[in-house]
Amino acid sequence: MLLTDDYRVMAAKRIAAELIRLAAGMNMTCPRTWVIVAVRLRITPSPYPMSDKHPPEKQSRGWLVHNSARDAWVIEWNTGLSEREQSEAIVHELAHWFQRAATSEWVCNEPAVYWYEGPDDERHRIARLVESLVFA
Ligand SMILES: [Zn+2]
Repeated sequence: MLLTDDYRVMAAKRIAAELIRLAAGMNMTCPRTWVIVAVRLRITPSPYPMSDKHPPEKQSRGWLVHNSARDAWVIEWNTGLSEREQSEAIVHELAHWFQRAATSEWVCNEPAVYWYEGPDDERHRIARLVESLVFA
């Protein structure tokens, strides 16, 4: 893995700065803010209530999924969480969207393929870092 800590921090800072810019003037700990940001990015927000139909391993905060039939990105998140936690969940998935959908040039001036195509834990680590920067 050629990914360095500096590189990871740089990518996270760029994504966080863009999310903060997109949320300018809005309450960052209100999920509605991040729904507006998602829609601006043409991502479909899909809230769902925590329910028994999800097995325990599926009861995470949120997911980013690509609906290939509609060629649309969708963020699903758990509305059973607090407003703050829902905001963090949506921001986390927005960070994943930037990792997947943005060009490498946008995210970083260096080739980004190593973490675009990298293992999930690497992408989660960057998304967690984005969360900590946005909600600092
Ligand atoms: Zn993640």
